[in-house]
Amino acid sequence: MGSQILRISPFSLSRTLINKSSSTPLFLSTNLSKTHFTFNTKLSSGFSGRVKRSFRSGIVAMAGPGSVQKSEDEWRAVLSPEQFRILRQKGTEYPGTGEYDKFSNEGVYTCAGCGTPLYKSTTKFNSGCGWPAFFEGLPGAINRHPDPDGRRVEITCAACGGHLGHVFKGEGFGTPTDERHCVNSVSLKFTPEK
Ligand SMILES: [Zn+2]
Repeated sequence: MGSQILRISPFSLSRTLINKSSSTPLFLSTNLSKTHFTFNTKLSSGFSGRVKRSFRSGIVAMAGPGSVQKSEDEWRAVLSPEQFRILRQKGTEYPGTGEYDKFSNEGVYTCAGCGTPLYKSTTKFNSGCGWPAFFEGLPGAINRHPDPDGRRVEITCAACGGHLGHVFKGEGFGTPTDERHCVNSVSLKFTPEK
C-alpha cells in the first residue's frame, strides 16, 4: 500500500549528477536533488556494513496508515513552527544543521508529528549529504509519492502524512537496499534503545 516504484532511472541520474560539480548555492527547490548527490563524496565508506536486517522482528508501527488525521489548525497547535513548515508544508531544513545529521546513538526514530516509529538506528548510515540517511524504513511506516516532475520521490509518514524528505535509489552506498531515505531531522524524534 502506498509504495510506488521510482520513476527515475537511478543509474543515469546518479551518473549525471555526480559528474556535475555543482557550485550552486544550496537548497533552492529544484536543485535540491543535485545538491544531495554532489555532496556524496563518501560513496562507499559511509556504510559500516555492520547492520543486518534483523530489526524486522522488533518494532512495528503502532499507528495504521492514515490513522492520524488533524486539521491544519490542530497541527499548528501541536507542532513548532519549524515542524509545521517541514512536516505539513513539505519544507526542508538547511543541510548540515539537523539535530540527527551526525548522530549515531542506538534507538528508534519516530515521526515528530504523530509518534509512529519510522526508522531504526541500525538502518541509519553516513551519506555525507547533510541530512540523516536511512537505507530502509520500518515495514509499512513510510509512503512514497513521486514528485509531479518525476525527478524525486517524496516520503511521508504513513500514519499522519507528515513530510519526511525524499528517497533515492541506486547511488552505490553499498547498503542492503541501495536506497537512501534522506530525512529532515525536524521530522524525526529519537528515542534511545532501552
Ligand atoms: Zn506521522
